[in-house]
Amino acid sequence: MDKATLLEELSGFLTKDQINTNYDDLYDASADRYKKYAKARKVLDVPLPTAIVYPNNTEEVSKLLVFCNDNRINVIPRGGKTATEGGLENWKELTLVIDADRLNKIIKVDEYNMQATVEAGVRLQELEDVLRARGYTTGHSPQSKPVAKFGGLVATRSIGQFSTLYGGIEDMVVGLECVFPNGHISRIKNVSRRAGGPDIRHIAIGNEGTLCYITEVTVKIFKHFPENNKFYGYLIKDVDTGIKVLREVMANGYRPSVARTYSEEDAHQHFYHFHKDKCVLIFMAEGNKDIVEATCRGIEASVEKFKDGILEYVDSKLIESWFNHLNWSQKDIDDEFEGMLEKDYHAGFTTEISADWSTIPQIYANVMNRVRNEFPRAHDLTMLGGHSSHSYINGTNMYFVYNYNINCEPEDEMRIYHHPLQTIIVEETLKLGGSMCHHHGIGKYRNEWTKEEHGSAYYMLEKLKETFDPNGIMNFGTIYPQEEGVKFQK
Ligand SMILES: Cc1cc2nc3c(=O)[nH]c(=O)nc-3n(C[C@H](O)[C@H](O)[C@H](O)COP(=O)(O)OP(=O)(O)OC[C@H]3O[C@@H](n4cnc5c(N)ncnc54)[C@H](O)[C@@H]3O)c2cc1C
Repeated sequence: MDKATLLEELSGFLTKDQINTNYDDLYDASADRYKKYAKARKVLDVPLPTAIVYPNNTEEVSKLLVFCNDNRINVIPRGGKTATEGGLENWKELTLVIDADRLNKIIKVDEYNMQATVEAGVRLQELEDVLRARGYTTGHSPQSKPVAKFGGLVATRSIGQFSTLYGGIEDMVVGLECVFPNGHISRIKNVSRRAGGPDIRHIAIGNEGTLCYITEVTVKIFKHFPENNKFYGYLIKDVDTGIKVLREVMANGYRPSVARTYSEEDAHQHFYHFHKDKCVLIFMAEGNKDIVEATCRGIEASVEKFKDGILEYVDSKLIESWFNHLNWSQKDIDDEFEGMLEKDYHAGFTTEISADWSTIPQIYANVMNRVRNEFPRAHDLTMLGGHSSHSYINGTNMYFVYNYNINCEPEDEMRIYHHPLQTIIVEETLKLGGSMCHHHGIGKYRNEWTKEEHGSAYYMLEKLKETFDPNGIMNFGTIYPQEEGVKFQK
């Protein structure tokens, strides 16, 4: 099928305003934030999708998927467009971006059963605003909260800033509806727990648009007690001290909503108002009063245990005000993009990994060492550091952050800078048994390591693809490595 025929056939079952072929919108849809610099400089090397389409309901999603499946047309599901790993990047000549913009209803807030149901295109902030007005919260607060939408949040297995208390999205989703490439609509009911075989929610959660299109999501809701919030901040000797304190808090069963430790370099860019070139450790406790008080005692006792590594206490008001300005709006994203039209530097590339408590400090040290000694453009780095921001009883994550001056053509930036840096981080993580991907998804730029990430269990991932998407129409190149896409990666 050629592009003209594809568009003609689409107009047979969608209205004119549901099909977008505007050049600027297609250019925007051809890549996400992984290639944001090349995108801003208008040197993207990937094909434009054929059209962006806007289904009004689940049945239309189903019709679209059947059409694409029958005609072998690549599909990229799209939500808030905040993807960072190439999940929205297009590698095929014939592609439809199925945008969730019109799946925008908050279906039900069920206060008694503590759950809320939304369509996939509802922005997290929208539901959060409705809940806050009634004294509830989703507990989900990724930095992209004002922009990201439920379909994307679930499809990427996202995690929020208060995860240590509320968990990641996988702990919040109680049920969902999704559509498979053959048009089949599956509804997973909303119950408090089930043991009817494997937990099939996880086929949709984290699928990054490669197995099914998520159309509806039900999440837990929590009572919100902002008046009880307590904040703690410390300047500390090194990252190791911070990790030890985090472990102590978690191992003793406390669940602060925020528990983070920052390297000196990362602290410098976050806490310019108090960092004094030291590492930083912060906590936030929230919830009902009794729980907050117990959590505070747990944090204080853990800090006391490692007091030799604690250099200074930070005024809790400084931590609180920092939190209040952490989220990114669409305007912040647009401003960053505009800034890249003029500036030859990159601020804010990240790679997030996870491992157990004993391995994380080693991965951190190995990455720092290899980047400083092996990365050919190390002299262009203006910042290299990281923070741990999501902790569990058995381990934590490390969020590597790197900024650099760009001394090459815009189209080479990813190949010369970002990808070699990400490669070192992933290699060091996999070598020591960690996970190469903590919460941004694999996208298209970590797919070369998907098999290594899963080892013998890759068999299960592969079978899911073969079963649910036998014609390979769902988000070509995402998660699953594809020979044909290598030319866009190197
Ligand atoms: C400033 C900024 C801050 C961020 N902070 C965080 C953070 O704190 N925590 C975090 O986890 N992530 C964070 N991210 C990453 C990103 O916001 C998350 O991955 C988010 O979940 C993506 O949601 P979205 O609606 O924007 O999805 P999109 O970017 O539109 O899509 C993301 C992926 O999901 C797929 N997808 C989208 N909708 C559907 C659907 N309905 N069905 C099936 N697949 C679908 C897409 O094909 C794509 O592969 C941040 C990103 C930015 C830009």
